[in-house]
Amino acid sequence: MIYALLGCLVVIIAGFFLVPRVIRLRKQKRREELAAQPFPENWRELLRQRFPLYKQLPVQLQSRLEGFIHIFLDEKVFLGRGGMTINDEVRLLISAQACLLILNKATDFYPGFRTILVYPDVYQAQALQNQHGVVSQHQQLRAGESWHRGPVVVAWSSVVEGAEDPEDGANVVFHEFSHKLDEEDSVMDGTPVLETRQQYSEWVRAFSTEYEQLVEQVAHHHAHDIDAYGAHSPAEFFAVVTEAFFEQPQQMSQQHPALYQQLRDFYALDPLCW
Ligand SMILES: [Zn+2]
Repeated sequence: MIYALLGCLVVIIAGFFLVPRVIRLRKQKRREELAAQPFPENWRELLRQRFPLYKQLPVQLQSRLEGFIHIFLDEKVFLGRGGMTINDEVRLLISAQACLLILNKATDFYPGFRTILVYPDVYQAQALQNQHGVVSQHQQLRAGESWHRGPVVVAWSSVVEGAEDPEDGANVVFHEFSHKLDEEDSVMDGTPVLETRQQYSEWVRAFSTEYEQLVEQVAHHHAHDIDAYGAHSPAEFFAVVTEAFFEQPQQMSQQHPALYQQLRDFYALDPLCW
């Protein structure tokens, strides 16, 4: 009897450790198979036409991106809202921009959520406003949002605009998916998961200095080159400087070298070289 119980215990403990490992290995194998699938030539042509940053990438990053797109399309679900029809163009353009952020990172492809909701155009949403402790609700026009542990929502017209102009520093997909990276440690606070204690302290030093500077500039109506929306919170600041990092690397590296360096290390990419 005691041996039977011990046997059961061994099986339970082995299962406890082995099952997650087997699941992880299966997922990894499936991702490798997906990434190795050929990338349709009409998809490549669509990216060349609609997402100029893709053309600027070094060839090996282009092909890595194509593999990542296969995986992303397999793991995420796209749903149309407000009469929006989801087709290959929609799925491809959103996936390509989302995957660019994680292209060189050790990544689990945006874990913790699956669904991307797409509206045809900017949409009305309920927003909460807290003024001196008094919370009120109002309607707000939005181009995108990222729900904590929930879907990413984007307006297709803004996705297209963001992809088409690679130099205006505005890209709704980069913005919303950087929020997703930010919340991988469960808190959306402008500090994503980093590897070492030193990286955290360098990140916080660079980001808090620049964030406070932007808040001051916006409050006093002084000139600033970082999008004023970043002054809303450290999380929004991380999202808007991510947009600028990928779309205005020259300006960012010159005006904000410490920020640029942190973002370059975090994304393990250097858009200045593209
Ligand atoms: Zn945001």
